[in-house]
Amino acid sequence: MDEKEKKEKKSTKMSEEERRRMLERKRRERARQRKRKAMMMRAAVLGGLVLVLIVVVAAVTLGVRKSKHNKEEALAQQEQAQKEEEEKQKQLEGQLAQADRLAAGYDYDGAIELLQTLAKDGADVQERIENFETAKASLVEADVETVPHVFFHILVADPSITWNLSGEDEYKIGDYNQVMTTIDEFKGILQQMYDRGYVLVRLHDLVEETENENGETVYTKGKIMLPEGKKPFVMSQDDVCYYFYMIGDGYASKMVVGEDGRPTTEYINADGSTVTGPYDLVPVLNEFIDEHPDFSYKGAKAVLAFTGYNGVLGYRTDPDLAKTAEEGNDNADEYGTFDYEAEIEAAKPVVQALKDDGWELASHSYGHISYGSSFEKVKEDADKWQERVANVIGPTDILIFPFGTDIGSWNEYSQDNQTYQYLHDQGFRFFCNVDSNPYWVQIREDYVRQGRRNLDGYRMYQDLYNGADKLSDLFDVSQVFDKNRPETGLQIWDGAE
Ligand SMILES: [Zn+2]
Repeated sequence: MDEKEKKEKKSTKMSEEERRRMLERKRRERARQRKRKAMMMRAAVLGGLVLVLIVVVAAVTLGVRKSKHNKEEALAQQEQAQKEEEEKQKQLEGQLAQADRLAAGYDYDGAIELLQTLAKDGADVQERIENFETAKASLVEADVETVPHVFFHILVADPSITWNLSGEDEYKIGDYNQVMTTIDEFKGILQQMYDRGYVLVRLHDLVEETENENGETVYTKGKIMLPEGKKPFVMSQDDVCYYFYMIGDGYASKMVVGEDGRPTTEYINADGSTVTGPYDLVPVLNEFIDEHPDFSYKGAKAVLAFTGYNGVLGYRTDPDLAKTAEEGNDNADEYGTFDYEAEIEAAKPVVQALKDDGWELASHSYGHISYGSSFEKVKEDADKWQERVANVIGPTDILIFPFGTDIGSWNEYSQDNQTYQYLHDQGFRFFCNVDSNPYWVQIREDYVRQGRRNLDGYRMYQDLYNGADKLSDLFDVSQVFDKNRPETGLQIWDGAE
Protein backbone atom coordinates (compact mmCIF):
# COMPACT_ATOMS: atom_id res chain seq x y z
CA MET A 1 0.00 0.00 0.00
CA ASP A 2 1.22 3.38 -0.82
CA GLU A 3 1.28 6.40 1.46
CA LYS A 4 -1.85 7.85 -0.02
CA GLU A 5 -3.71 4.62 0.36
CA LYS A 6 -2.48 4.35 3.93
CA LYS A 7 -3.64 7.91 4.53
CA GLU A 8 -6.98 7.17 2.99
CA LYS A 9 -7.18 3.96 4.95
CA LYS A 10 -6.27 5.82 8.06
CA SER A 11 -8.81 8.49 7.22
CA THR A 12 -11.44 5.84 6.62
CA LYS A 13 -10.40 4.16 9.82
CA MET A 14 -10.75 7.41 11.69
CA SER A 15 -14.07 8.21 10.19
CA GLU A 16 -15.24 4.79 11.22
CA GLU A 17 -14.04 5.50 14.66
CA GLU A 18 -15.78 8.82 14.60
CA ARG A 19 -18.90 7.25 13.35
CA ARG A 20 -18.80 4.67 16.07
CA ARG A 21 -18.31 7.42 18.59
CA MET A 22 -21.04 9.42 17.05
CA LEU A 23 -23.36 6.45 17.10
CA GLU A 24 -22.35 5.84 20.69
CA ARG A 25 -23.14 9.51 21.44
CA LYS A 26 -26.43 9.23 19.67
CA ARG A 27 -27.27 6.01 21.55
CA ARG A 28 -26.42 7.67 24.81
CA GLU A 29 -28.37 10.69 23.80
CA ARG A 30 -31.40 8.51 23.02
CA ALA A 31 -30.97 6.63 26.27
CA ARG A 32 -30.89 9.94 28.12
CA GLN A 33 -33.93 11.10 26.28
CA ARG A 34 -35.75 7.86 27.08
CA LYS A 35 -34.71 8.22 30.69
CA ARG A 36 -35.87 11.80 30.78
CA LYS A 37 -39.08 10.85 29.06
CA ALA A 38 -39.61 8.02 31.53
CA MET A 39 -38.92 10.38 34.41
CA MET A 40 -41.30 12.87 32.99
CA MET A 41 -43.88 10.15 32.56
CA ARG A 42 -43.42 9.05 36.14
CA ALA A 43 -43.65 12.64 37.27
CA ALA A 44 -46.77 13.06 35.23
CA VAL A 45 -48.30 9.89 36.60
CA LEU A 46 -47.36 10.87 40.13
CA GLY A 47 -48.72 14.35 39.62
CA GLY A 48 -51.90 12.85 38.26
CA LEU A 49 -52.15 10.55 41.22
CA VAL A 50 -51.63 13.41 43.66
CA LEU A 51 -54.25 15.41 41.85
CA VAL A 52 -56.65 12.50 41.95
CA LEU A 53 -55.87 12.08 45.64
CA ILE A 54 -56.52 15.77 46.29
CA VAL A 55 -59.77 15.60 44.39
CA VAL A 56 -60.80 12.46 46.23
CA VAL A 57 -59.89 13.92 49.61
CA ALA A 58 -61.68 17.13 48.75
CA ALA A 59 -64.74 15.25 47.56
CA VAL A 60 -64.80 13.05 50.64
CA THR A 61 -64.37 16.03 52.94
CA LEU A 62 -67.12 17.90 51.14
CA GLY A 63 -69.30 14.83 51.21
CA VAL A 64 -68.75 14.33 54.91
CA ARG A 65 -69.40 17.94 55.56
CA LYS A 66 -72.52 17.83 53.42
CA SER A 67 -73.79 14.68 55.08
CA LYS A 68 -73.08 16.21 58.49
CA HIS A 69 -75.03 19.27 57.42
CA ASN A 70 -77.84 17.05 56.14
CA LYS A 71 -77.85 15.15 59.37
CA GLU A 72 -78.07 18.37 61.37
CA GLU A 73 -80.86 19.59 59.17
CA ALA A 74 -82.73 16.32 59.54
CA LEU A 75 -82.28 16.48 63.29
CA ALA A 76 -83.57 20.02 63.39
CA GLN A 77 -86.53 19.02 61.28
CA GLN A 78 -87.16 16.10 63.58
CA GLU A 79 -86.97 18.35 66.62
CA GLN A 80 -89.30 20.85 64.99
CA ALA A 81 -91.76 18.09 64.15
CA GLN A 82 -91.55 16.80 67.69
CA LYS A 83 -92.10 20.28 69.04
CA GLU A 84 -95.11 20.75 66.80
CA GLU A 85 -96.47 17.38 67.86
CA GLU A 86 -96.04 18.29 71.53
CA GLU A 87 -97.70 21.65 70.92
CA LYS A 88 -100.57 19.92 69.18
CA GLN A 89 -100.83 17.41 72.01
CA LYS A 90 -100.84 20.21 74.57
CA GLN A 91 -103.54 22.06 72.67
CA LEU A 92 -105.59 18.89 72.40
CA GLU A 93 -105.23 18.25 76.12
CA GLY A 94 -106.34 21.83 76.80
CA GLN A 95 -109.39 21.36 74.60
CA LEU A 96 -110.20 18.01 76.21
CA ALA A 97 -109.94 19.66 79.64
CA GLN A 98 -112.21 22.45 78.41
CA ALA A 99 -114.73 19.86 77.16
CA ASP A 100 -114.53 18.08 80.53
CA ARG A 101 -115.20 21.37 82.32
CA LEU A 102 -118.23 22.08 80.12
CA ALA A 103 -119.56 18.58 80.76
CA ALA A 104 -118.91 18.91 84.50
CA GLY A 105 -121.18 21.98 84.38
CA TYR A 106 -123.86 19.91 82.59
CA ASP A 107 -123.26 21.64 79.25
CA TYR A 108 -122.97 18.34 77.38
CA ASP A 109 -124.02 19.92 74.08
CA GLY A 110 -121.22 22.47 74.37
CA ALA A 111 -118.73 19.76 75.30
CA ILE A 112 -119.74 17.48 72.41
CA GLU A 113 -119.70 20.38 69.96
CA LEU A 114 -116.15 21.21 71.00
CA LEU A 115 -115.02 17.59 70.76
CA GLN A 116 -116.45 17.25 67.28
CA THR A 117 -114.11 19.97 66.04
CA LEU A 118 -111.13 17.88 67.23
CA ALA A 119 -109.47 14.99 65.42
CA LYS A 120 -112.06 12.28 64.97
CA ASP A 121 -109.47 9.51 65.11
CA GLY A 122 -108.46 10.21 68.72
CA ALA A 123 -109.76 7.39 70.89
CA ASP A 124 -109.99 9.82 73.84
CA VAL A 125 -112.24 12.11 71.84
CA GLN A 126 -114.63 9.39 70.67
CA GLU A 127 -114.85 7.87 74.12
CA ARG A 128 -115.64 11.23 75.65
CA ILE A 129 -118.34 11.98 73.10
CA GLU A 130 -120.01 8.65 73.88
CA ASN A 131 -119.75 9.21 77.64
CA PHE A 132 -121.24 12.68 77.37
CA GLU A 133 -124.07 11.46 75.15
CA THR A 134 -124.89 8.84 77.77
CA ALA A 135 -124.72 11.37 80.63
CA LYS A 136 -126.90 13.82 78.69
CA ALA A 137 -129.51 11.16 78.02
CA SER A 138 -129.85 10.50 81.77
CA LEU A 139 -130.60 14.15 82.72
CA VAL A 140 -133.99 15.07 84.14
CA GLU A 141 -135.86 18.36 83.87
CA ALA A 142 -135.94 20.41 87.07
CA ASP A 143 -139.13 22.09 88.28
CA VAL A 144 -138.24 25.78 87.92
CA GLU A 145 -141.21 26.81 90.10
CA THR A 146 -139.66 25.23 93.18
CA VAL A 147 -136.17 26.74 92.85
CA PRO A 148 -134.92 28.45 96.02
CA HIS A 149 -133.04 31.75 95.89
CA VAL A 150 -130.58 32.55 98.68
CA PHE A 151 -128.87 35.88 99.26
CA PHE A 152 -126.05 37.49 101.20
CA HIS A 153 -124.61 40.92 101.85
CA ILE A 154 -120.91 41.81 101.78
CA LEU A 155 -119.19 38.96 103.60
CA VAL A 156 -117.32 39.58 106.84
CA ALA A 157 -113.65 39.01 105.97
CA ASP A 158 -112.23 39.53 109.45
CA PRO A 159 -114.85 38.75 112.14
CA SER A 160 -112.37 39.54 114.91
CA ILE A 161 -112.71 43.17 113.83
CA THR A 162 -116.42 43.21 112.95
CA TRP A 163 -117.67 41.52 116.13
CA ASN A 164 -115.44 43.63 118.36
CA LEU A 165 -116.02 47.16 117.09
CA SER A 166 -115.82 49.65 119.93
CA GLY A 167 -116.21 53.31 120.71
CA GLU A 168 -118.20 55.25 118.16
CA ASP A 169 -118.32 52.20 115.86
CA GLU A 170 -119.87 49.88 118.43
CA TYR A 171 -123.41 50.76 117.36
CA LYS A 172 -122.84 48.95 114.06
CA ILE A 173 -122.31 45.53 115.64
CA GLY A 174 -126.04 44.77 115.95
CA ASP A 175 -126.79 45.50 112.28
CA TYR A 176 -123.73 43.65 111.04
CA ASN A 177 -124.58 40.70 113.26
CA GLN A 178 -128.11 40.51 111.86
CA VAL A 179 -127.58 40.90 108.14
CA MET A 180 -124.02 39.77 107.51
CA THR A 181 -122.47 36.35 106.97
CA THR A 182 -118.78 35.62 107.48
CA ILE A 183 -116.56 34.17 104.77
CA ASP A 184 -116.09 30.99 106.83
CA GLU A 185 -119.85 30.64 107.32
CA PHE A 186 -120.35 31.19 103.59
CA LYS A 187 -117.77 28.52 102.74
CA GLY A 188 -119.47 26.11 105.15
CA ILE A 189 -122.85 26.80 103.53
CA LEU A 190 -121.44 26.22 100.03
CA GLN A 191 -119.84 22.92 101.05
CA GLN A 192 -123.01 21.62 102.66
CA MET A 193 -125.26 22.70 99.82
CA TYR A 194 -122.83 21.10 97.36
CA ASP A 195 -122.80 17.89 99.40
CA ARG A 196 -126.62 17.87 99.32
CA GLY A 197 -126.74 18.11 95.52
CA TYR A 198 -127.53 21.81 95.08
CA VAL A 199 -126.40 23.34 91.78
CA LEU A 200 -126.16 27.09 91.20
CA VAL A 201 -128.19 28.34 88.21
CA ARG A 202 -128.71 31.81 86.73
CA LEU A 203 -131.87 33.73 87.53
CA HIS A 204 -132.41 33.83 83.75
CA ASP A 205 -132.19 30.01 83.58
CA LEU A 206 -135.63 29.86 85.26
CA VAL A 207 -137.27 31.02 82.05
CA GLU A 208 -137.33 30.63 78.31
CA GLU A 209 -137.46 33.97 76.50
CA THR A 210 -139.25 34.25 73.18
CA GLU A 211 -140.65 37.14 71.17
CA ASN A 212 -144.31 37.68 70.46
CA GLU A 213 -145.75 39.25 67.28
CA ASN A 214 -145.30 42.75 68.77
CA GLY A 215 -141.58 42.15 69.32
CA GLU A 216 -142.04 41.91 73.09
CA THR A 217 -140.20 39.35 75.17
CA VAL A 218 -142.47 36.61 76.51
CA TYR A 219 -141.50 34.42 79.46
CA THR A 220 -142.31 30.75 79.83
CA LYS A 221 -140.88 28.10 82.13
CA GLY A 222 -137.22 27.39 81.44
CA LYS A 223 -135.71 23.99 80.91
CA ILE A 224 -132.97 23.20 83.43
CA MET A 225 -131.59 19.71 82.81
CA LEU A 226 -129.69 18.12 85.71
CA PRO A 227 -128.74 14.63 86.82
CA GLU A 228 -131.30 12.87 89.02
CA GLY A 229 -131.09 14.15 92.60
CA LYS A 230 -129.44 17.48 91.76
CA LYS A 231 -131.33 20.59 92.88
CA PRO A 232 -131.04 24.01 91.22
CA PHE A 233 -130.83 27.22 93.28
CA VAL A 234 -130.22 30.92 92.58
CA MET A 235 -127.88 33.15 94.59
CA SER A 236 -127.61 36.91 94.91
CA GLN A 237 -125.57 39.44 96.85
CA ASP A 238 -126.97 42.83 97.80
CA ASP A 239 -125.31 46.22 98.18
CA VAL A 240 -122.06 45.28 96.41
CA CYS A 241 -120.94 48.87 96.80
CA TYR A 242 -118.49 48.74 99.74
CA TYR A 243 -120.23 51.60 101.51
CA PHE A 244 -118.21 54.28 103.28
CA TYR A 245 -119.54 53.30 106.70
CA MET A 246 -118.02 49.81 106.36
CA ILE A 247 -114.44 50.98 105.83
CA GLY A 248 -112.14 49.52 108.46
CA ASP A 249 -114.87 47.25 109.89
CA GLY A 250 -113.42 43.95 108.59
CA TYR A 251 -114.73 43.97 105.02
CA ALA A 252 -113.17 44.07 101.54
CA SER A 253 -112.71 47.62 100.24
CA LYS A 254 -113.36 47.19 96.54
CA MET A 255 -113.58 44.80 93.61
CA VAL A 256 -110.68 44.72 91.15
CA VAL A 257 -109.56 42.72 88.13
CA GLY A 258 -107.03 40.12 89.26
CA GLU A 259 -103.81 39.13 87.49
CA ASP A 260 -105.70 36.27 85.83
CA GLY A 261 -108.23 38.71 84.37
CA ARG A 262 -110.99 37.55 86.70
CA PRO A 263 -112.74 39.68 89.33
CA THR A 264 -111.31 39.62 92.83
CA THR A 265 -111.26 41.88 95.90
CA GLU A 266 -108.96 44.21 97.79
CA TYR A 267 -108.68 44.42 101.54
CA ILE A 268 -107.00 47.21 103.50
CA ASN A 269 -105.09 46.02 106.55
CA ALA A 270 -105.05 47.93 109.83
CA ASP A 271 -101.55 49.24 108.95
CA GLY A 272 -102.92 50.71 105.71
CA SER A 273 -101.32 48.16 103.37
CA THR A 274 -103.58 46.73 100.66
CA VAL A 275 -103.83 43.05 99.79
CA THR A 276 -105.67 41.36 96.92
CA GLY A 277 -107.47 38.05 97.25
CA PRO A 278 -110.68 36.24 98.24
CA TYR A 279 -112.07 38.75 100.76
CA ASP A 280 -115.68 38.68 99.56
CA LEU A 281 -118.31 36.52 97.89
CA VAL A 282 -117.21 36.86 94.26
CA PRO A 283 -113.68 35.42 94.53
CA VAL A 284 -114.66 32.96 97.28
CA LEU A 285 -117.50 31.51 95.18
CA ASN A 286 -115.21 31.45 92.14
CA GLU A 287 -112.62 29.44 94.05
CA PHE A 288 -115.29 26.98 95.17
CA ILE A 289 -116.64 26.54 91.63
CA ASP A 290 -113.10 26.15 90.24
CA GLU A 291 -112.70 23.25 92.65
CA HIS A 292 -116.24 21.93 92.13
CA PRO A 293 -117.28 22.76 88.54
CA ASP A 294 -120.38 20.58 88.97
CA PHE A 295 -121.68 23.16 91.48
CA SER A 296 -122.36 25.64 88.66
CA TYR A 297 -124.89 25.00 85.87
CA LYS A 298 -123.28 26.00 82.56
CA GLY A 299 -120.96 28.46 84.30
CA ALA A 300 -123.68 30.19 86.33
CA LYS A 301 -122.61 32.68 89.03
CA ALA A 302 -124.65 34.86 91.39
CA VAL A 303 -126.64 38.07 90.83
CA LEU A 304 -124.89 41.19 92.21
CA ALA A 305 -127.18 44.10 93.16
CA PHE A 306 -126.13 47.75 93.31
CA THR A 307 -127.38 50.98 94.79
CA GLY A 308 -125.77 54.19 93.57
CA TYR A 309 -125.36 56.73 96.38
CA ASN A 310 -121.87 55.53 97.41
CA GLY A 311 -120.97 54.29 93.93
CA VAL A 312 -120.55 50.64 92.93
CA LEU A 313 -117.95 47.96 93.64
CA GLY A 314 -115.97 50.37 95.84
CA TYR A 315 -115.63 52.99 93.08
CA ARG A 316 -117.06 56.39 93.93
CA THR A 317 -118.97 56.77 90.68
CA ASP A 318 -121.79 59.03 91.89
CA PRO A 319 -121.57 62.71 90.77
CA ASP A 320 -122.59 63.88 94.26
CA LEU A 321 -119.35 62.43 95.64
CA ALA A 322 -117.40 64.99 93.61
CA LYS A 323 -119.08 67.80 95.55
CA THR A 324 -117.68 69.55 98.60
CA ALA A 325 -119.32 69.59 102.01
CA GLU A 326 -120.47 73.15 101.28
CA GLU A 327 -122.11 71.90 98.10
CA GLY A 328 -124.06 69.37 100.14
CA ASN A 329 -121.85 66.26 100.13
CA ASP A 330 -122.28 64.77 103.62
CA ASN A 331 -119.43 62.33 102.99
CA ALA A 332 -116.85 64.94 101.98
CA ASP A 333 -115.55 65.76 105.46
CA GLU A 334 -114.92 62.17 106.45
CA TYR A 335 -114.12 60.44 103.16
CA GLY A 336 -112.99 63.25 100.85
CA THR A 337 -114.21 64.08 97.37
CA PHE A 338 -113.80 62.01 94.23
CA ASP A 339 -113.23 62.50 90.52
CA TYR A 340 -116.37 60.50 89.74
CA GLU A 341 -115.68 60.32 86.00
CA ALA A 342 -112.27 58.75 86.64
CA GLU A 343 -113.94 56.38 89.12
CA ILE A 344 -116.44 55.35 86.45
CA GLU A 345 -113.60 54.61 84.02
CA ALA A 346 -111.83 52.58 86.73
CA ALA A 347 -114.99 50.60 87.52
CA LYS A 348 -115.81 49.67 83.92
CA PRO A 349 -113.11 46.99 83.42
CA VAL A 350 -114.24 45.37 86.68
CA VAL A 351 -117.85 45.37 85.48
CA GLN A 352 -116.74 43.78 82.20
CA ALA A 353 -114.66 41.15 84.02
CA LEU A 354 -117.73 40.27 86.12
CA LYS A 355 -119.94 39.90 83.06
CA ASP A 356 -117.31 37.84 81.23
CA ASP A 357 -117.06 35.61 84.30
CA GLY A 358 -120.80 34.82 84.30
CA TRP A 359 -122.14 37.18 86.99
CA GLU A 360 -125.52 38.86 86.50
CA LEU A 361 -125.85 42.50 87.59
CA ALA A 362 -128.99 44.09 89.04
CA SER A 363 -130.56 47.23 90.43
CA HIS A 364 -131.06 47.48 94.18
CA SER A 365 -132.54 51.02 93.86
CA TYR A 366 -130.42 54.18 93.83
CA GLY A 367 -130.86 55.32 97.40
CA HIS A 368 -131.84 52.06 99.13
CA ILE A 369 -135.41 53.26 99.55
CA SER A 370 -138.44 51.02 99.88
CA TYR A 371 -140.15 50.50 96.52
CA GLY A 372 -143.35 50.17 98.49
CA SER A 373 -143.16 54.00 98.75
CA SER A 374 -145.33 56.39 96.69
CA PHE A 375 -145.10 56.17 92.92
CA GLU A 376 -143.45 59.61 92.71
CA LYS A 377 -140.76 58.63 95.16
CA VAL A 378 -140.04 55.32 93.41
CA LYS A 379 -140.00 57.02 90.00
CA GLU A 380 -137.47 59.60 91.15
CA ASP A 381 -135.22 56.93 92.61
CA ALA A 382 -135.55 54.59 89.61
CA ASP A 383 -134.71 57.45 87.22
CA LYS A 384 -131.64 58.28 89.26
CA TRP A 385 -130.52 54.65 89.14
CA GLN A 386 -130.76 54.67 85.34
CA GLU A 387 -128.76 57.90 85.15
CA ARG A 388 -126.08 57.16 87.72
CA VAL A 389 -125.70 53.37 87.93
CA ALA A 390 -126.84 51.94 84.58
CA ASN A 391 -124.20 54.15 82.97
CA VAL A 392 -121.55 52.21 84.91
CA ILE A 393 -122.85 48.63 85.04
CA GLY A 394 -124.92 48.67 81.84
CA PRO A 395 -128.62 47.98 81.38
CA THR A 396 -130.27 45.22 83.41
CA ASP A 397 -133.68 43.57 83.61
CA ILE A 398 -133.25 42.47 87.26
CA LEU A 399 -134.55 44.45 90.25
CA ILE A 400 -133.67 43.30 93.77
CA PHE A 401 -136.06 45.17 96.11
CA PRO A 402 -134.37 47.07 98.98
CA PHE A 403 -135.55 45.76 102.36
CA GLY A 404 -137.17 42.98 100.31
CA THR A 405 -140.26 45.18 99.96
CA ASP A 406 -142.25 44.18 96.89
CA ILE A 407 -144.35 46.57 94.78
CA GLY A 408 -147.36 44.28 95.01
CA SER A 409 -148.87 41.42 96.99
CA TRP A 410 -148.20 37.77 96.20
CA ASN A 411 -150.94 38.12 93.60
CA GLU A 412 -149.95 38.87 90.04
CA TYR A 413 -148.79 42.39 89.21
CA SER A 414 -151.80 44.09 87.74
CA GLN A 415 -151.93 46.36 84.72
CA ASP A 416 -153.11 49.25 86.92
CA ASN A 417 -150.03 48.97 89.17
CA GLN A 418 -148.41 52.27 88.18
CA THR A 419 -145.06 51.48 89.80
CA TYR A 420 -144.88 48.10 88.08
CA GLN A 421 -145.74 49.67 84.74
CA TYR A 422 -143.05 52.31 85.15
CA LEU A 423 -140.35 49.81 86.15
CA HIS A 424 -141.46 47.53 83.31
CA ASP A 425 -141.06 50.45 80.91
CA GLN A 426 -137.52 50.90 82.22
CA GLY A 427 -136.78 47.34 81.17
CA PHE A 428 -137.14 45.44 84.45
CA ARG A 429 -138.60 41.94 84.07
CA PHE A 430 -137.16 40.02 87.05
CA PHE A 431 -138.37 41.20 90.47
CA CYS A 432 -137.01 39.70 93.68
CA ASN A 433 -138.45 40.26 97.17
CA VAL A 434 -137.50 38.57 100.44
CA ASP A 435 -139.45 35.53 101.57
CA SER A 436 -138.48 32.93 104.14
CA ASN A 437 -140.39 30.09 102.45
CA PRO A 438 -138.18 27.43 100.83
CA TYR A 439 -139.11 28.81 97.39
CA TRP A 440 -141.49 31.24 95.74
CA VAL A 441 -141.50 31.65 91.96
CA GLN A 442 -144.03 33.45 89.77
CA ILE A 443 -143.46 33.19 86.02
CA ARG A 444 -145.88 35.21 83.90
CA GLU A 445 -145.86 36.23 80.28
CA ASP A 446 -144.35 39.67 80.91
CA TYR A 447 -142.37 39.23 84.14
CA VAL A 448 -140.72 36.83 86.57
CA ARG A 449 -140.78 37.07 90.37
CA GLN A 450 -138.81 35.12 92.92
CA GLY A 451 -138.64 35.21 96.71
CA ARG A 452 -135.21 35.26 98.31
CA ARG A 453 -134.02 33.71 101.58
CA ASN A 454 -131.54 35.58 103.76
CA LEU A 455 -128.73 33.31 104.95
CA ASP A 456 -127.44 35.75 107.57
CA GLY A 457 -126.72 35.96 111.27
CA TYR A 458 -130.32 36.60 112.23
CA ARG A 459 -131.74 33.72 110.22
CA MET A 460 -129.06 31.31 111.42
CA TYR A 461 -129.47 32.39 115.04
CA GLN A 462 -133.25 31.91 114.86
CA ASP A 463 -132.75 28.40 113.47
CA LEU A 464 -130.06 27.50 115.95
CA TYR A 465 -131.52 28.89 119.17
CA ASN A 466 -135.21 29.63 118.57
CA GLY A 467 -136.24 26.53 116.60
CA ALA A 468 -137.26 28.48 113.51
CA ASP A 469 -136.23 25.65 111.17
CA LYS A 470 -136.07 27.79 108.06
CA LEU A 471 -132.71 26.51 106.82
CA SER A 472 -132.51 22.77 107.42
CA ASP A 473 -133.34 21.97 103.78
CA LEU A 474 -130.19 23.83 102.75
CA PHE A 475 -127.61 23.19 105.47
CA ASP A 476 -127.06 22.30 109.11
CA VAL A 477 -126.68 25.66 110.88
CA SER A 478 -124.89 24.18 113.89
CA GLN A 479 -121.97 23.22 111.66
CA VAL A 480 -121.75 26.67 110.09
CA PHE A 481 -122.68 29.38 112.62
CA ASP A 482 -119.73 31.49 113.84
CA LYS A 483 -119.74 30.85 117.61
CA ASN A 484 -117.79 34.07 118.14
CA ARG A 485 -120.77 36.17 117.07
CA PRO A 486 -122.01 38.44 119.85
CA GLU A 487 -125.70 38.25 120.87
CA THR A 488 -126.29 41.88 119.97
CA GLY A 489 -129.21 42.31 117.61
CA LEU A 490 -129.94 38.63 117.02
CA GLN A 491 -132.83 37.79 119.34
CA ILE A 492 -135.31 40.59 118.73
CA TRP A 493 -135.44 41.51 115.12
CA ASP A 494 -137.86 40.56 112.42
CA GLY A 495 -136.95 42.66 109.43
CA ALA A 496 -134.96 41.94 106.32
CA GLU A 497 -132.68 43.91 104.06
ZN1 LIG B 1 -129.80 46.18 100.62
